[in-house]
Amino acid sequence: MPDFARHSLLDLPPYPAAGYARLADRIATLIATGNDVVFVQAEAVVALEAAATSLGTAGMRALNIVTSPYGELFGGWLTRAGVDVVELRAEPGLPVTVEAVAQALAGAGGVDLVALVHAESASGILNPLPAIARLAREKGALLLVDAVASAGGHELDVDALGIDIAVIGPQKGLGGPAGISALCVSQRAWQAIDRPDAPQRSVLSLIDIKRNWLDAGRGALSGMPSALEFHALEAALDRVEAEGMAGTIARHVRAQRATRAGLEALGARLWIGDEREASRLVTTILLPEGLDAHRLAQDEAAIAAGLTAGVGAVASKLLRLDHTGPRAGRETVLQGVRAVGHILNRAGFATDERAAEEAVAGVYGP
Ligand SMILES: *Cc1c(COP(=O)(O)O)cnc(C)c1O
Repeated sequence: MPDFARHSLLDLPPYPAAGYARLADRIATLIATGNDVVFVQAEAVVALEAAATSLGTAGMRALNIVTSPYGELFGGWLTRAGVDVVELRAEPGLPVTVEAVAQALAGAGGVDLVALVHAESASGILNPLPAIARLAREKGALLLVDAVASAGGHELDVDALGIDIAVIGPQKGLGGPAGISALCVSQRAWQAIDRPDAPQRSVLSLIDIKRNWLDAGRGALSGMPSALEFHALEAALDRVEAEGMAGTIARHVRAQRATRAGLEALGARLWIGDEREASRLVTTILLPEGLDAHRLAQDEAAIAAGLTAGVGAVASKLLRLDHTGPRAGRETVLQGVRAVGHILNRAGFATDERAAEEAVAGVYGP
């Protein structure tokens, strides 16, 4: 008889039903929002699809800002739901400009919904969310923000900005599991979602979640919730709370500064020149002419340091350094900067490794 040994990942105690509300409240406290926090028991792209599917309806007009494949997907789901979608595409790999958003909103007549990604890990950019939020409010439009790649790295003032739906994934800056997502939903958004024709009895239905969980006293969740994911989410929240949200953000700021300083000292070219327009989770460099990011990313040192090619239209020109979540620390930053030096050297470009190490030390201390 094989030994039926207890396994720490398989034979978990069930997650207590009362625990879900506690987790939601802890997320609300970390984000400092008074809006409802609900869970979608799936990875964050599913939560985004649920938001588009539940909110979108025929006759609705949306301005969908596209700065990565995520925005593209979102526009597709809105269109499928019958929404009249105006797409605003930023320059490939760059943040959208406030002027472009203002112009699109002025030209669009009425707009009921503005949707955008806050920070992009795909290209290492940060979109100007506060200014866009102001424009959306002036139009009286609902505002949906994909904050999966910004939560834990960037300030996300859901209530002050008037974000009606913020989609949060624990798996990036918060260092948590990828199989569960949270949505912060305003009363205004619930009013738009709660329609007779809203999708129901569907994993993409937010009104199901509202009625079956939120309105029912926040006890048991539908289906068989994954204990693994909820225990992991709790552990992730323990860790973030121990550091404090401000501390988690500060650690990402430091990792970003050190990475950017190291890369510049090395002689690499930062893709986003202005730190305020750059992601704090991922830093990208523009490769010298003739080098291909996909090929360079296959180098052993690049793989070991977690360097990857960009995603989207400018993918082959951009190399990404990932300093997200638990990776936002000195060792990972140093390893990434050194790996860039190594692969640029091998490709025949001069780099200054010593200056790079000193620049990283200049941010982290000796
Ligand atoms: C990572 C990420 C998501 C979620 O993608 P998953 O495949 O579910 O992890 C959504 N939006 C953005 C901007 C992301 O970076």
